[in-house]
Amino acid sequence: MPSLHTSDKQVADILDHERKRQAHGMELIPSENYASQAVMEATGSIFTNKYSEGYPGKRYYGGQEYVDQVEQLAIDRAKKLFNVDHVNVQPYSGSPANTAVYFGLLEYGDTIMGLKLDHGGHITHGLPISFSGKSFECTGYEVDKETGMLNMDAIRELALKTKPKLIIAGYTAYPRKIDWKAFKEIADEVGAITMADIAHIAGLIAGEAHKSPVPYFDVITTTTHKTLRGPRGAMIMCKKKFAKSIDRAVFPGLQGGPHDNTTAAKAVAFGEALQPSFKEYAHQVVKNAHTLAERLLEHGFNLVSGGTDNHLILADLTNKDIPGKVAQEALDKAGITLNKNTVPFDPRSPFDPSGIRMGTPAITTRGMKEPEMKQVADFINDALNNHTDDDYLANIKNKVKDLCSNFPVPGIDN
Ligand SMILES: *Cc1c(COP(=O)(O)O)cnc(C)c1O
Repeated sequence: MPSLHTSDKQVADILDHERKRQAHGMELIPSENYASQAVMEATGSIFTNKYSEGYPGKRYYGGQEYVDQVEQLAIDRAKKLFNVDHVNVQPYSGSPANTAVYFGLLEYGDTIMGLKLDHGGHITHGLPISFSGKSFECTGYEVDKETGMLNMDAIRELALKTKPKLIIAGYTAYPRKIDWKAFKEIADEVGAITMADIAHIAGLIAGEAHKSPVPYFDVITTTTHKTLRGPRGAMIMCKKKFAKSIDRAVFPGLQGGPHDNTTAAKAVAFGEALQPSFKEYAHQVVKNAHTLAERLLEHGFNLVSGGTDNHLILADLTNKDIPGKVAQEALDKAGITLNKNTVPFDPRSPFDPSGIRMGTPAITTRGMKEPEMKQVADFINDALNNHTDDDYLANIKNKVKDLCSNFPVPGIDN
């Protein structure tokens, strides 16, 4: 970035440090990934200069010939990738996308039903202090206390009792497959609209490593920057009959001008996800998570639900006698980035929870496979067994850096 280095050394220096951090560290936050150089070039492109309120062919400003082309391309590629009737690629991020669905399809005070936050749901799925919780009646379902998995009979019972207008499936910290068809059957029984929030697993679905909600669900929201590996942003997909309400809710209901540079980058990312290599990546993400989980189990870790079907793992560290926050900080010192997380029925607080959450999308993008997953699990185990010994952790950090140097991050040359 030659011009940034001359014009603003302060920001350039911070970026240099972050580039090194990303290149040398083991990134296990399951919502993160490494976007390609091409995605970043489009994100940093001259489309950032443009204003284009409206939709392709129906804009409120002039000079739209190329913006229309790029937004239509993003829409067409997304339709092909997910096999959906209608796509809106304008939502700024996952939270505004969910908000737009509620705004477009519900009345304030309607009842919505999503997984509780401390059971793996997202804040926008009805957390009382969030916009969703303040604007709607929210009935949260839980995972089963014994299995750590969704119990469709219990969910059905709650739906019959609370008669939600909207049922949400799709999560932030749930390591298992989702039975879309079972959700649809429950929704039909109570006359609810179905919304799948596939923010975390969109890449797994696009890469055919997980089943798609598309044959069953009315509306599907997703971020574009998690397993889907695109720019920061989101989109809403829906059946034709909801298209108008969704588009109106996004603009002018909730947003002004779309971020056309991000739209261009979404088109690039969808193009990448349509390549055969993306299928390989998606399947490898799942295989890697499985191997990482198996090795952690061998080390005596207690995994919520006993393992994983997707890209993420939730470990309850109660048996290790290490709070999640302490584990996160120790692992940071060892060059391993993940996040502390509540576990279902957590007796501790969200700021000081019992667990940690980790995932394989970013390290799979680097090209790591099963043998490296075993090493990663061993690093985690070693670090936590020696979490008070800073020298020991610094030593692991060097080993992590060595391993990472064999798997360069796409888009970062170092
Ligand atoms: C990440 C996530 C979102 C929100 O995305 P932001 O872009 O951070 O607003 C929404 N829903 C789920 C399930 C998520 O995991």
